[in-house]
Amino acid sequence: MQLHIGFDDTDSPKGGCTTYVAALIIEKLRELGASFIDYPALIRLNPNVPWKTRGNGALCLRITCEDQLVDEIKECVIETVEKQADLSYEGTDPGIVFLHGDVPSEIESFAQRAIVSIVQKDEALNLIKKAKAEAYGFKKGRGIIGGLAAIGEQLKGDHTYEFIAYRTLENRGTPRRVDAASVAQMDKQLGRSVFSNIDPETGRVLITPRGPDPILYGIRGEMPEAVRRGHQLVRCEEPIERWVIFRTNQGTDAHLRRIVSVDKVKPFNPVIIKGEVAGKPRIIQGGHVIFGIRDDTGQVDCAAYEPTGTLRNVAKKLLPGDLVEVYGGVRPASCKHPLTVNLEKIRILKTVPFIVQENPLCPVCGKRMKSMGKGQGFECKKCGFHGRSLRKVTHETARSLKPGLYFTSPRSQRHLTKPRRRYGLEKTVPPRMPAVVPYEWFYGVGESS
Ligand SMILES: [Zn+2]
Repeated sequence: MQLHIGFDDTDSPKGGCTTYVAALIIEKLRELGASFIDYPALIRLNPNVPWKTRGNGALCLRITCEDQLVDEIKECVIETVEKQADLSYEGTDPGIVFLHGDVPSEIESFAQRAIVSIVQKDEALNLIKKAKAEAYGFKKGRGIIGGLAAIGEQLKGDHTYEFIAYRTLENRGTPRRVDAASVAQMDKQLGRSVFSNIDPETGRVLITPRGPDPILYGIRGEMPEAVRRGHQLVRCEEPIERWVIFRTNQGTDAHLRRIVSVDKVKPFNPVIIKGEVAGKPRIIQGGHVIFGIRDDTGQVDCAAYEPTGTLRNVAKKLLPGDLVEVYGGVRPASCKHPLTVNLEKIRILKTVPFIVQENPLCPVCGKRMKSMGKGQGFECKKCGFHGRSLRKVTHETARSLKPGLYFTSPRSQRHLTKPRRRYGLEKTVPPRMPAVVPYEWFYGVGESS
């Protein structure tokens, strides 16, 4: 019997983590004698939905087991989610979905939409009914949407892996004791087989989260062997309770859809859109840079926020007429601002010449002249020459902004944003999996790796 177990929305800002709930369920599935047919999946959904949990990640475990085990497995999953989820937190609405057999194409397409746009719980419930799947919701049960989407997204195209190490109970909430130098060394040694470990601008370690959650660190990379090697190279001075390697859509740009015209930009639907810079960029309170882009169908604002250092500096240098392609989530219009694309990346396609206007040089002595007022010509303060018919001279200076693709600093990149390092490494086919993926490939307890 093949069973897909999807779940989501068990965490809250106060702690907990849906991936940790997955780790505990994996442990129990091993004890019960179920077999995995794929790596555990961590599926990041549209990061721009208004009610998102941190990171908006849903989980799916795909297993085979004896028919008589199914009920016990389901009970065990429900119990674990109920026990581990932070049900006291108002925005935490866990959901679990169980699906038998193959994943219907309708659920695949539902998952696609959950990653690039907004889907409704009613639609999820209809699909669940049609596929004879089962759904369990706690409180508002919003997690059912993510649970079903995680089942539907089978990562047949581009995908990456993340090794997540979890902290022991007594250390949670204390500073993480991970040796920064070893992380930098690991990143250097493993090169492009891993990504987003270190922020090159600040040298900051990015593999450790900040909050009270049970994650000690997460190492992202192209293949399971690479992230596992990364784990072996990182030194830390606290014990690891358990670890899991997830297969994921992180770092793949899965949330972005290229659209053809500005009038198609819709709130909460992350886009890639081409346009001409419509006016001089303006810097608003907080140091954010705002500029408009337009095409034949309309105009839309784009924002580079202060934490995204590189993009802000690029955006500041734009001139009206520059041709750009922007990548980012879309914030709806409010009373404070119009519909806005929040930049994750920007591609400079073509820059206009930068024309500088200057006063003319004195034809007698060569000194730069002074204006005598609008339309009055110019005078030379040095030799006294007056030139009433002289005009300003224009010349072109080089633009400091060069065509190319610019990224947010890795420290402010979203989970789904494809970092520079991954360009050219995209996968186009699913990985080859054995009929049964051994637990040792993706799960361990304690230090051993
Ligand atoms: Zn002169």
